[in-house]
Amino acid sequence: MDDEWAIRFEHAAKTYAAGSSARGDAPAAVDDLTLDVRTGEVLVLVGPSGCGKSTTLRMVNRLVEPTGGRVLVEGRDVATLDVVELRRRIGYVIQNVGLFPHRTVAQNVATVPRLLGWDRTRTRARTAELLELVGLAPDRYARRYPHELSGGERQRVGVARALATDPPVLLMDEPFGAVDPVGRRRLQDEFARIQRELGTTVMLVTHDVDEAVRMADRVAVMSAGGHVEQLATPLDVVARPASPAVADLVGRGRTARLLALGRLTRDDLDPATTAPPDAPVVHVGDELGDVLDALARDGVTSAAVHADGVPVGVVTTTQVLTALRRLVAPSGSAAVDA
Ligand code: ADP
Ligand code: MG
Repeated sequence: MDDEWAIRFEHAAKTYAAGSSARGDAPAAVDDLTLDVRTGEVLVLVGPSGCGKSTTLRMVNRLVEPTGGRVLVEGRDVATLDVVELRRRIGYVIQNVGLFPHRTVAQNVATVPRLLGWDRTRTRARTAELLELVGLAPDRYARRYPHELSGGERQRVGVARALATDPPVLLMDEPFGAVDPVGRRRLQDEFARIQRELGTTVMLVTHDVDEAVRMADRVAVMSAGGHVEQLATPLDVVARPASPAVADLVGRGRTARLLALGRLTRDDLDPATTAPPDAPVVHVGDELGDVLDALARDGVTSAAVHADGVPVGVVTTTQVLTALRRLVAPSGSAAVDA
């Protein structure tokens, strides 16, 4: 049973000392948080600035000590663990990563292996492997200094450093926030690949809803005081917001998000139509947005649908709209399956 979750918050709370707030009586940054992060999943905390996301994350590696409740990592209350030992098992990536400016990329990545006393050969091999993993050719990048890198490259080094000892848990606080939109998209995709490859449990904080729905297995939408408004799959959060606060957060651009999250199913096909000979071909399981793209690109209203390389029917623009309505219908969970 302990294997089912990697991080557990049990009525965790944090009230910062009154003196550190300008007005004296600080309300709880996190009031009463109970939440599990499942082993191997990417759980994204999303919510407005100041709602308690970073505080929540930092309770896991004890950069913040809870003032109430407790936090468990792999079954053990973090308050009872040696903090250095704990942090070796938990990678931490923040915006503007905080690389050591006078150390090379390779030396930065090797920070924890050095602390652990790894020998040179092992450290060098691991560093090269990690740089490859994050898409930085070691022979080009290992000897550079942080100021010789772009913002995106620096974030990659930060991710490599955090993964150096293959920690089971990775905490990421607005990790791609300082990267331009195009670079950010690429980093998100590459990070998703790395995470799948390693199976790391990830808790990621962002205020960017698009980043949340793109990266998450599950999204926790937070409001002030670390209150979880909704904990669900990205599609559920976008299609069926559980509260006005969630609706407000995901409301703008909702259709575009649904097009990216919804998939073409066999139920969406039009049994009464056959595809014209020159119709574009789409596939069962394609994103609805890609189906719409294929239709728009060819300036047509129907496409042939294949599954496992075999034609199985036709989809029209009307059916894409029907599929969108199906996604937001109250029951709806079967709709996700391709
Ligand atoms: P988020 O990451 O969602 O923007 P934070 O967890 O950083 O939110 O902050 C939650 C609340 O706690 C905010 O009101 C913030 O001002 C307050 N806070 C955060 N860190 C401290 C601190 N070190 N001392 C006092 N108050 C803090
Ligand atoms: Mg924050």
